[in-house]
Amino acid sequence: MTFNSDELLAGFAPVQNNQNPLKGLNPGQLKAAETTEGPVVVLAGAGTGKTTTMVKRTAYIIQEGKAKASEILMVTFTRKAAGEMRSRLANILGPDVAQKITVGNFHAICADILRRHSGLVDLPQKFSILDNDGQKDVLGTIAIERGYISSRKDSAKISAFQEQISSWKEEGWDPEMVQKIAGEHPDRIVLEKLGMEPGFGTQAIKTYFEYQDMLAIRRWCDFSDLVLHVVRIFRAHDDVRQREASRFTHVVVDEFQDTSPVQNEWVRHMAKDHQNLCVVGDTDQSIYEWRNARPDIMMNFHKEWPNTTRVTIDINYRSTQEILDLANTVVAPLRLKDGLDKKLTSPRNGPEPKLFFKQYTSGLEEAESIARESEMLMEQGTKGSEIAVLCRSGMIINVIERGMRDRRIKYVVAGAMKFTDREEVKDAIAYLNLANNPMDFVSLERIVGKPRRGIGPQKIGEIRRVMISNKTDAVTAIEQVAKKMNARTVMHRTLLELAEFIKNAQNGIGQDENCGQILENLLEESGYFAWREGNDKDKMKTMRIENLERLISEAQEYNTVADFLESMALQAAADTQWDEDSVVLSTVHASKGLEFDVVFTPAMETGIFPNARAEQTSYGMDEERRLAHVAWTRPRNKLYTSFSLFRPGRNGTAEPSPYLVEAGFLSSTTTPKNSYGSSRIRRRAF
Ligand code: ATP
Ligand code: MG
Repeated sequence: MTFNSDELLAGFAPVQNNQNPLKGLNPGQLKAAETTEGPVVVLAGAGTGKTTTMVKRTAYIIQEGKAKASEILMVTFTRKAAGEMRSRLANILGPDVAQKITVGNFHAICADILRRHSGLVDLPQKFSILDNDGQKDVLGTIAIERGYISSRKDSAKISAFQEQISSWKEEGWDPEMVQKIAGEHPDRIVLEKLGMEPGFGTQAIKTYFEYQDMLAIRRWCDFSDLVLHVVRIFRAHDDVRQREASRFTHVVVDEFQDTSPVQNEWVRHMAKDHQNLCVVGDTDQSIYEWRNARPDIMMNFHKEWPNTTRVTIDINYRSTQEILDLANTVVAPLRLKDGLDKKLTSPRNGPEPKLFFKQYTSGLEEAESIARESEMLMEQGTKGSEIAVLCRSGMIINVIERGMRDRRIKYVVAGAMKFTDREEVKDAIAYLNLANNPMDFVSLERIVGKPRRGIGPQKIGEIRRVMISNKTDAVTAIEQVAKKMNARTVMHRTLLELAEFIKNAQNGIGQDENCGQILENLLEESGYFAWREGNDKDKMKTMRIENLERLISEAQEYNTVADFLESMALQAAADTQWDEDSVVLSTVHASKGLEFDVVFTPAMETGIFPNARAEQTSYGMDEERRLAHVAWTRPRNKLYTSFSLFRPGRNGTAEPSPYLVEAGFLSSTTTPKNSYGSSRIRRRAF
């Protein structure tokens, strides 16, 4: 988010020469900003300036001398949001002061704390962070050994274990707690959405115990562990908690409606001594209940924190009234349940139409039309990065991409294929991980065939078993396996060479070399570079080499390999390169907190939006409404929404999303067959 002309008009230009940073705030915002001591909850709708107010409040606290920059902790939901918050702070306070404020998401802030006290949860200081694939790999190993699955191909069950365990971690439950709760309230432990067979809960608990043991031996922790471990340390060692908490006198949490119980507990530990805690959020934008977020944590904040100052704001500065009216309709049914009197209004309006709706015959036709319209808008002066196409699923993004490609329009896909998800980047990181953590068999398995060494799955399985059962590191395990073989075989020599390579790699980390150089050496000496360069059949060869070079140059900025690995592991959607000319294609989830001049929401069809899977849980359908509300509250000036009658993989004609009917675009949800154009369309088409 950059400062736009509206902000400048409202006196939102960078504050200089000690100007009052609160200038231009409305009374509700002012109350939130000026209440700098004690608990504050700001419950306010989309685009009402919550994030803006928090930034200005922080500037005010610093300028008034109520706290030093280094004493303020600001927690955001994603790294991208953290980066934006920091740049807004830098706009007001200057980069030097802004740099001293701790701004980050839960994972990054907790990883930092955990490094300092990892010994208290039996982790070495140099632990590695296990990513999604790594988690599945470890869980697959356990599930096979326990006989819960017969092959790694049963990925649905492995994912179910992964989801279940992450969900317990988000609740703040370690394995012992889950076991205890299972004894008392067996119905409380298994995720309703998984719908697994009876006995799944018991299997999952056993898997959880074993998974944590394996992580500890291998010096790993997963993402949810970052927060849970810190909370476990705080629960057991109040002196450590006090020391960590006392680094800050003021804590701010943005997007608080999507906080999980374990995150909330962490916030409580950090703020309970001084109570200067300000949380902001909007329950209408709670979209992570499937990941154990609990909007009621925000609703009950005042009960948890006595003497809370409550602030509500209902003026939306982002969008025009016409757009807001639409965004209000989709959450209107929720008002019947929560009884809240919430409706967004905007001071912004104008004679031009802001809302466009169209029905298409095919997804491709829809994509082409969006591409054409984007092109027109850009010709008229809208920047590409101010145009967003927000999709309910990645599948829809793929179709839109095709439309953009066909018209040669530059675009970026946010939150989809990340730099860190690319195969070659993962390989390079695995090399580095193995050098840094000798116990890391997931990384060993990843690199063993890259380049080809002739070590097949059976051999690698054997090495893995030795590592697990003897609790040894990779080098020892490989040497032990080699010892059992005929010393004259090629395999024997290959294994010893691999062991030698890993040993050297581990020694290399101890040398006084820069992290980029270490990585480059690893990729050269392993033959990985040469292998990639020699693969002429690979159409992506050039791009892969470029990515590896980019990775090496990023690594050069880090002093230690551990720091670099941590930073890579924590990279979320943040690493998408957003440049000014590229149209943004994104999932709705990844668009939270952002704003654009123009937004398209295609594929508003029953089954897609609301998503068919939403019906499997009690909260799913409400969450879909909130998700649509998030999408429709992103645009400042123009909103285009549409659906398509036909889509590959679907039989017959689509049923338009009920949200379109409720909004008054269509007269009923059932579109008569072969009736293209017969539905009553009230708004101007595009
Ligand atoms: P979301 O719910 O999407 O996270 P938010 O409540 O955090 O939104 P912001 O992103 O802070 O809202 O602000 C929305 C827009 O309104 C921004 O462009 C911001 O600059 C503008 N804005 C906020 N407060 C004011 C104000 N008092 N006067 C004019 N513009 C404002
Ligand atoms: Mg915000």
